[in-house]
Parts: sequence; C-alpha cells; structure tokens
Amino acid sequence: MNHRERPIHHLDIQSLTKRFDPSSPPAVQDVSFHLRTGEILGLLGPSGCGKTTTLRMIAGFTRPDGGEIFLEGTSVASLPPERRRIGFVFQDYALFPNRTVLDNLVFALHRKKRAIRKGKARDLLALVGLSREEGRFPHELSGGQQQRVALARTLAAEPELILLDEPFSNLDAALRESTRAEVRSLLKCAEMSAILVTHDQEEALSFCDTLGVMNAGTLEQRGTPEEVYLTPRTPFVAQFLGRANLLRGTARGTTARTDLGDIAIHPAAEGSVLLSLRPEHLTLQPLAAARSRSDSPRITSREFRGHDLTYRVAFMNQEFLVHTDYTCDLPPGSAVALVPRRPGVVLQEPGLCRRG
Ligand code: ATP
Repeated sequence: MNHRERPIHHLDIQSLTKRFDPSSPPAVQDVSFHLRTGEILGLLGPSGCGKTTTLRMIAGFTRPDGGEIFLEGTSVASLPPERRRIGFVFQDYALFPNRTVLDNLVFALHRKKRAIRKGKARDLLALVGLSREEGRFPHELSGGQQQRVALARTLAAEPELILLDEPFSNLDAALRESTRAEVRSLLKCAEMSAILVTHDQEEALSFCDTLGVMNAGTLEQRGTPEEVYLTPRTPFVAQFLGRANLLRGTARGTTARTDLGDIAIHPAAEGSVLLSLRPEHLTLQPLAAARSRSDSPRITSREFRGHDLTYRVAFMNQEFLVHTDYTCDLPPGSAVALVPRRPGVVLQEPGLCRRG
C-alpha cells in the first residue's frame, strides 16, 4: 500500500487493559488513543504507570486482558509479534558483539535475497550516518552510534511502526541530546510512525509531535506538547509536566476570586475551582514600602539561573514559584505583588465537574 492510501489513523488503540495480579489494580486500564501516519507519540509518566506494558501489548509481547489494537485498520491482537510488522528499539541495543556493524545489519536482512543484503545494509548505514564505521565491532562505537545501528537494524525489517522504550537512557546527557535529534530526523525522513516511552519530560517535549501522559495505568491527557503544557487537564498533569502553582478560587465565568485577587481563568467555570499557573506565567512587582504590609507576598529565595531567575514567594500559607527574566532582579525579603500574565487553567478534579 503506498503512503498516500494509508488510513489516517495508522494505529488505533481501544480500551486496552492489563491486570497482572488479581489483588492489585490493573497495570493498564482502559487506555485508548490513535496515531496518525508519520506521527511520533511520547508516552510519558512516572515509574510503574504502565508505559512499557502498553508498548509490549502493542508489540505483542504481553497479552491484553481487554481492548483492541488496529494497525492500518486491521486487528493485530491475535497475531504473534513477528507478524505485526512493528519494530521495537530497547534501552539495551543488543547488537551481536562478534559481528561488524555491516554484518549486524546483513543478518537483520536475512529475509531478503542474499545478493541484495549487503547493498541494502549499506543503504541503511548511510541513512543513519555510519557508512565509515561499517567494519567496526559494536564495542568500537560510542553509545549513540550503537543506538543508531540498533535503529538501522529495526528499520531493516521494514516495520509499519516503531516502538522505542527509553532508547536514550544509557547515553550521557550531551550524547543523549544529539542522538535524540538524529533519531527524530531519521524517523521523519523515513515517514515512520513511532511511540517513544520515556519518563524524561524534556525528552518527550523535544522529540515528540504529541504526548500522552499516563498516571496509575490510565491515560490522563493526550495532545500536542503545547496543549498539554499550557492547558493541563488535571493536577497530576500540571505537576508532572513542568512546575505548577496550584491555587483555589471561586469562579464566575472567565474570572475567579483567589488569594491573588480576581484573575482571568480558562476555560470558563462556575463555583469552587482548582487553578494551575505556571511559574513563568506569574510576574513580580515590587511593592513600595508605603504599600507593603506584614501579610504581603514576600520573596523567600532567589535563584540566579543565567538566562532567568527563579523566586519562591510566601503568601497566605502557600509558596509560589515564579520564573522571571534576568531584568527582574529583587532581593529575598522584598514585599511584592504576584501578577498572573496568563489566565489560570481550570483543572478537573476527580469526582468534580466544574467547567462552565
Ligand atoms: P518504568 O518507567 O519504571 O519502566 P512503566 O511505566 O513502564 O515503568 P510498567 O513496566 O508498564 O511501568 O509496569 C506497570 C505496573 O505493572 C508496575 O506496577 C509493574 O510492577 C507491573 N508489572 C509490569 N510487568 C509485570 C509482570 N510481568 N508481572 C507482574 N507485574 C508486572
């Protein structure tokens, strides 16, 4: 099937559920999402939230207790892993140590005609930028280069979809950033759909087109990195992805009465609400001595971070985190006004439905 004829939803996951132990809550519960052709989705969440289990069910290594998996519109739930045309890149590259880079790829092409294997292996090495290293053994490559060989080996099987489980976690920080950028551009060049599992939020934001944030086996929010970061739906998502100040208020339409005064909110709501304000969406205004009172917001700490500053501000038994640019330079102990620059985001709380 050529690329243009593919269905829009390349992968469709419906109500996927897995319970390993009848006395514990499910590892994955009622997870549904779809992936467009060529989309890179990041599954993000704390340790034990069910990311790997979700990936393993898609790949066919773990049998779901419920739900459906459609690839290109066809159910693959009853197919063994090798018939799903899904490639899996693990944290551990598992290359053959006693074969050269070229031979590792030639071996991965064993289903192709013998005469074309070497040529195809060289094409894949050129794709991942390792043509000059074809005669080396895995231990003669850096971690990032090994990971690129592992990716080339996965591409050799011509998968429809690639699953990447923490593929960069064995690399040191500098190599991780460059390898991640290279792997992303390779996937984009190959128009490959992919799911990346990670608990590194910066990695998820920079590598993925869309994100799914998982918590305790469920998918709490799915959207573009901007949507999930700027309009988190739940307190968990607000606090897991970046930092967030949570604030109670009483809403009336698009404003809410809070400890910070009447502030704009989004979306409109009525009654008691929990709001999220990112630290960079708050500003500090110094209060003149005449206006400062003993209960005014007060800076308790200031952290210089080169391009910006992080302040902690105590107010009404709460600590607010504020990121400002380097021009807002105030000493600890200063009385300030805390002023939101963007509307507070109304969060959904379990059991409550307050949106207007
Ligand atoms: P991490 O980021 O630490 O890899 P994760 O989000 O990928 O975590 P999973 O590996 O999917 O989480 O595990 C989800 C839950 O299922 C955990 O409580 C884990 O202990 C449990 N679990 C995973 N695999 C098995 C198994 N084979 N048998 C029993 N329990 C399992």
